[in-house]
Amino acid sequence: MTHAIRPQPGILNISPYVGGVSHAAGVSNVVKLSSNENPLGPSEAAKTAFRNTAQSLHRYPDQSHAALRAALAEVHGLDAERIICGAGSDEIIAFLCQTYAGPGSEVIYTQHGFSMYRISALAAGATPVEVPERDRVVDVDAILAGVTERTTLIFIANPGNPTSTMVDAGEVARLAAALPDHVLLVLDGAYAEFVDGFDGGAALVDARDNVVMTRTFSKLYGLGALRVGWGYGPAHVIDALNRVRGPFNLSTTQLETAEAALLDRDWVDHCRSENARLRVLLAEALAEMGVPSDTSCANFILARFRDAAEATACYDHLQAAGVLVRKVASYGLPHCLRITIGDQESCNRVAYLIGTFREGQS
Ligand SMILES: *Cc1c(COP(=O)(O)O)cnc(C)c1O
Repeated sequence: MTHAIRPQPGILNISPYVGGVSHAAGVSNVVKLSSNENPLGPSEAAKTAFRNTAQSLHRYPDQSHAALRAALAEVHGLDAERIICGAGSDEIIAFLCQTYAGPGSEVIYTQHGFSMYRISALAAGATPVEVPERDRVVDVDAILAGVTERTTLIFIANPGNPTSTMVDAGEVARLAAALPDHVLLVLDGAYAEFVDGFDGGAALVDARDNVVMTRTFSKLYGLGALRVGWGYGPAHVIDALNRVRGPFNLSTTQLETAEAALLDRDWVDHCRSENARLRVLLAEALAEMGVPSDTSCANFILARFRDAAEATACYDHLQAAGVLVRKVASYGLPHCLRITIGDQESCNRVAYLIGTFREGQS
C-alpha cells in the first residue's frame, strides 16, 4: 500500500544497523566477542562517578560539555574550543551528514567501511558512494578516483573496522591535500587508542581546515552502554555541528562518567596493554591452525577462512559452544569472522574451539 505520508527520499533505502549477537540458544554463559567491547569493563572510578550522578538527576545537564571537553583537551593536547561531544561517535557521524550532505550530494566510504556511514548518508538524503580497498586496506587513489563535484564528505576509519588494518599517516595527509575545496575528510578514530603513539589524525586536523576526527568511549574505555563520543575539527566545522546538536544531547551521567573514565589513566593503560598482549597470542594461535589474519591495530582480529562456507561453519561451531563472534559478509568479507579480543580465558577458549573445528575439517 502506498501512503501519501512518505519519508524523505533515501530513508526507505536504509537497511537497519545489525549489531553483534549477544545470545546463543540453550547456552547461559556466553562469551560475547561480537561487538569489540572492552572485556575488562569500565574503570572503578567511572562506575563511582556514574552512581554519584544519581544525586543530581533533577537538574538539566551542562549544555556546553565544558568539563569533559577540557579533560579531553588536556589528555590529548587539543584545543577544547574545537571539540564537540555526542551520544556515541554515531551521533557525530549523523551531525556531519546532516550538516554537510543532503539530496544531490555524495558521501564516500570504503569497501569494508563501517555501516553507519552509509546509514547516516541515506538518512540525510545524500547518495552513498562505496569505493574499493586494496587487500583490506584503505586505498587513497581509489578514494580520489571516486570524488566528483557532488562529493561533500569522505569517511575513513583508521584503524578500520572490520579490517583492523591502518592506512599510514602520509597517505592520509596526501588524501587531505589532494581533495577539492568542497570536500570534508572525516577520520573515524574509534580504535585509535589501541595504536601506541597514534593521535587519530589530530595533528592533521590542526594543520588543515578540511579534516575532522571522531573518537569514542565505547571501545577502549569500556563504555559502550553509556553512549559518549566526540569530534575534533576546524572551528568552522565545530561551529556548524553545534548548531545541529541538541543542547542537552548528553546527560550529566554520560558527561561525568566519561570524564572519570578518561582521567583514570592507569586503567586505560592496563586495558591497552592487555589487549596488545592477547591480540598477538590469539592471532598467532590461529595462524598456526591455518587461519591467518592481518596484523591487527585494534581490539579484534579479522580471521580469514578458506571460503564463506568454512567461515559460516566455524561461526556455527563457536556459537554452539556459546562463543559469539561477528559475521562480516555484509562488509564484503564473507570468508572472514571478526573476533573481539576478550580476556585471557576467552582468548584461550576461542583458540581451542577453532582448533577443534579445524581438526574436524581436515
Ligand atoms: C564502534 C565504532 C564506532 C563507535 O560507535 P559509538 O557510537 O561511539 O559507540 C565508530 N566507528 C567505528 C568504525 C566503530 O567500529
